[in-house]
Amino acid sequence: MMTPEQQARYNARMQRKKAVVDAKIAQATETRGVLILLRGNGKGKSSSALGTMARAVGHGKKAAVIQFIKGRMETGEYKFFKDHPQIDWHVMGHGFTWETQDYARDVAAAEAAWALAQQLLNDDRYDMLVFDEMAYPFKYQHLAVEPVVTALQQRPLQQTVFITGRVMPAALLDIADTITDMRDERHAFRLGVKAQAGIEF
Ligand code: ATP
Ligand code: MG
Repeated sequence: MMTPEQQARYNARMQRKKAVVDAKIAQATETRGVLILLRGNGKGKSSSALGTMARAVGHGKKAAVIQFIKGRMETGEYKFFKDHPQIDWHVMGHGFTWETQDYARDVAAAEAAWALAQQLLNDDRYDMLVFDEMAYPFKYQHLAVEPVVTALQQRPLQQTVFITGRVMPAALLDIADTITDMRDERHAFRLGVKAQAGIEF
């Protein structure tokens, strides 16, 4: 139990905190789409982007996903979202480079995915775009970053874009509104737990 003195101190502290929070809220007045980068080696990048997409479609918004790298299997999120009337889901690209070992083919896949991304960035019917693993083709120079920066800057004002990937090019970090670095503090895989349906995919 708190003494009356402790209670008074606690109340005063909370009052000060409320004043600070209220002042910050009063300063944030803009309504617009944002560019959100989810990067790093820890688990949670794609699932965070898709969780936010669920939020957006819950509010009646329209969204599209481009998977720049096709995973091995049909994921649970793909099965769940693919037939949703407010969501367009595009699986572009093929496997990871170390599995295909064909530079020309990787470049062609990245360019096809980017051509589609460009169309979506020009289309104000989409409130939210998720470019999953888009950072990957920059890392291996399958795609130039400059045209992507330009297209992101010219997109519709209310459109929010997520880009995920372990390593983000500096040019994207420069123009992002929100950047979250998922730090790999621990992962069950290293404890010997294999990738499980409903958790990893
Ligand atoms: P998630 O899809 O769970 O949000 P992610 O998008 O952050 O993960 P990716 O880099 O896309 O992670 O990795 C794809 C797969 O590898 C996912 O199944 C994910 O759960 C798993 N994974 C993510 N981080 C790690 C890690 N540090 N070690 C082992 N496996 C990981
Ligand atoms: Mg991912």
